[in-house]
Formats: sequence, structure tokens, C-alpha cells
Amino acid sequence: MKITEVRTRVVEWRGPTVPPQPHFCTNPMDLLSLSQDAMAGFRFHGWVIVEIFTDAGHVGIGNAALSPRLTKQCVDLYLAPLLVGADPFDVEFLWQLMYRKTMAFGRKGVGMTAISAVDIALWDILGKAAKQPVFKLLGGRTKKTIPVYASRLYSGPLDELASEATKYKEAGYKAVKMRFGWGPVDGAEGMRHNVDLVRTAREVLGDDVDIMADAYMGWNLDYARRMIPRLEPFNLRWLEEPVIPDDIQGYAQLKAMNRIPIAGGEHGFTQYEFRDLLEARAVDYIQYDTNRVGGISQARKINAMAESFAVPVVPHAGQMHNYHLVMSSLNSPMAEFFPPVDVEVGNELFWYIFDGEPVPENGAIDLRDDVPGLGLTIKEDALSKFDVIE
Ligand SMILES: [Mg+2]
Repeated sequence: MKITEVRTRVVEWRGPTVPPQPHFCTNPMDLLSLSQDAMAGFRFHGWVIVEIFTDAGHVGIGNAALSPRLTKQCVDLYLAPLLVGADPFDVEFLWQLMYRKTMAFGRKGVGMTAISAVDIALWDILGKAAKQPVFKLLGGRTKKTIPVYASRLYSGPLDELASEATKYKEAGYKAVKMRFGWGPVDGAEGMRHNVDLVRTAREVLGDDVDIMADAYMGWNLDYARRMIPRLEPFNLRWLEEPVIPDDIQGYAQLKAMNRIPIAGGEHGFTQYEFRDLLEARAVDYIQYDTNRVGGISQARKINAMAESFAVPVVPHAGQMHNYHLVMSSLNSPMAEFFPPVDVEVGNELFWYIFDGEPVPENGAIDLRDDVPGLGLTIKEDALSKFDVIE
């Protein structure tokens, strides 16, 4: 089997979007105190779709959501010429070829995101050619279904937070994740507001639902150190991205406090960064995103490392490329799930572009045994609601 063509499309949503409320979610821009709507820089309303065609008629679909226009350029200019004529079953060789060819400017960020999207498409081809779901190629089922946690609960009025949390509890979720709205520049009053958010969620959800809370890189070490004791009474399953991803030592210091488990890695790239996190004993949970970290070829290596350190892997985002890895890894106890909502921060756009994504029942999803590959198709008709850049 030979690759005949690599096609990339950027799709950018041009329909209505929900404007974020003030203190919607902390993020790395907060410390610059630039605007009320600091989250503006972290909304993304575009996606890149990669399709890889073969002479056997199989088409592999990959995708990525970081800097889609740049990612498309990287695939078109640097990766596609390496792929056309190659055998997709040489997936590890092709990963090394793409990685080494882009070494001078790739490695992390856009370069690795482009490699990830291609690698996911290659694995989709392998599944389709073998007539097996990708999780079977990765080792098969390690669990009957995948428990998922409802991931939303952005910061806002406490009564709205309470009713949203109630909805997830009633739908059967055993775990939910919420977001903080205040950070270092908001002083002691902001700390109180953050505690109010978590207290409200715990009161509504009771003790039988796990609660995780995400600072989305919007805090720093000093602030996180002062917040953790205030949050400890609410028994969080984890505190996510309390500091910026480059501050591995900061992560390690927070983990060493041993008061709230620390999670991170959704902005991490390749096995090397995760080796460093593991060796520094910097995280209690690893949260790579397969469509950034280096695709399935890298994610499976990180899974193996994390398992030997007994650090569970709960990938960032739902989505098939993550679910197939969770299904086939005993060390991945659950997965994230972004509920389909009106277009807001951008995570939910996945639902508008692709078909085939499983919907939870009673807080768990299942993958089909009879659908080869990753199981995604592109909603070509729905793309009329997007600007499409070929
Ligand atoms: Mg997160």
C-alpha cells in the first residue's frame, strides 16, 4: 500500500459564538492585566483536517486544533513530500522521518502538532486496512467501557454553576471538571471567589462525585502554594495546570506539598517532555493530547513510561484519537468529555466537524468493535457553516 495524496483543509467557524463572561477561566495572559476578556487569546474557532489517501482506497483522517493555518502550512510544505509514495504501515519510520526532517524548527508547538495530525491519519489507515478499530491494534480492550468526566463548569455566577453541575450529576457522571476564574492579580478577594466556586460544586455534587479543577496555566507557583491549603477541604481529585508548562520544577514543588494531586501535560510535547515530568516526580496525572503530543505513535510510548511510574494517563479532550488509547491502556482509568454546546471556547467545534464521536451513557462511553480505524467521518455538508481554506 502506498500513500498517493495528503490533503489539508482549515475550517474556521463563521457562525455565532457565545461571548465569555468576565473571569470565565484563568489563563497565561492574566498576569499581563491587559483586558477584561483575557480568554480571547485562548479561544480557537478553527481546526485543521488532514486526509491521507492511499492506492488501496483507504483514506485516513487526522486533525489538530492548535494554530490551524500554520499547522496546515507545516503539513503541506514539509511533511506531505515525505509521505507521498511511502507505505503507511511504516508508521514508526515515518514518524522518525518527519521528526528528524523538521528537527531545527519543529519538536514542539506547531511542528509537533502537524506531525500529530499526520500520525493520527496514518493510524486510521492502518485500522481501516486491517479491518480493525485502532484500539485493537494497540492491544485491545482493557475495560468494558470508558468512564468519562464532564468537562466544562467555567467560572460564573454560583447559581448557574450549581445548576450546570446538577445537570451532570443527574446525567450519571461520576466525575466533573471545573475552571477557576481568578489568579495572582486578583488578590485575596479572588482567592475567596475561587474557593466559593469549588465549595458550590462540592455542595451540589456531594461526596460521591469526583471534582477536578483547572487553572489553565493562569496561576504561578506562589499563588498555587497559597491556594492549595484553601482548596484542600474540598477533596479535589486533581488540580490541573497550576503553573505554565515550562515550569517543571514548579509542578514538582506543588506535588511535593502532597495536599492535592497535581495534573498537567495537555501543552506538553513528545516522550522527552513526559520523561522529564515523570523523572522530576512533577505530576500525579498525565494529560497529553494525542493531536499535539506527537500522535498515537508518541502517546503509546508515553503510556508505557507512565505505567512504569504508576502515574495514570487521562488525556486532554475526548475525541477518538484519545479514546482508542484510553481503551487499550490499563493505566488510563477514564477520559475527558467536552459536552456539545453552542460554539464558545472552541473545544466543542469537534462536534460540528466530525461524525462518529461516541456520546456518554451514565457517565461512560464505548467504542465500536465493528468500525475499523478511528471511526470518524467528516460532516462535509456542515462545513458550509465554516470558511474552508484549501
Ligand atoms: Mg485543561
